[in-house]
Amino acid sequence: MPRPSTSHLSSRLRQLTTSSPPATALFYARIWYALSAPFDGDHEALHVLALCFLQCDQPYSALYLVRDLADAEPELVPSRPGSSGFGRRKGCYGCAMIVGKCCDRLSRYSEGKGVVERALASSTPMNLPSLSPSLSAATPHLMLARLSHKGKAPEQAVEAYTKALQEDPWLWEAFTGLCDIGESFPSGPN
Ligand SMILES: [Zn+2]
Repeated sequence: MPRPSTSHLSSRLRQLTTSSPPATALFYARIWYALSAPFDGDHEALHVLALCFLQCDQPYSALYLVRDLADAEPELVPSRPGSSGFGRRKGCYGCAMIVGKCCDRLSRYSEGKGVVERALASSTPMNLPSLSPSLSAATPHLMLARLSHKGKAPEQAVEAYTKALQEDPWLWEAFTGLCDIGESFPSGPN
């Protein structure tokens, strides 16, 4: 079977990261980011990975990814007369907005304020992708599993997590749910 093209993989991973529940979205976002070529200025996979970290309550990981790209690259040598810093990387508006979200989460308000102010003053505005888990065939089983798990009905939770995995073998929420209960889980897809 021929290997899917990079653009096909990117488009599929983009769809999976923006529509899956948080832990599964983070799993796909890591793959997408690892596969995406570091095109100059193309931060789409990077932005999505950082947003997935934030969604999974890992603001430090998100901040580490984007903070150096939020601001323009500093000039390393004194600028020559007439030089306007030609060739320097510009600050990324999207990275700056994610830094702002991270700083808000971490109560690092003055740091976040500075980054967002600089982006508003000098970066080109852009939209960030929105992560919105959509309903799938696995969703109701996952919901039932979580309610059963929290409601101290582990047998029903195991049954529902297993059904969720039958619908979506890559659903990390169901894997980790079974692990939390101490249950072995069915083997993954080959
Ligand atoms: Zn960026």
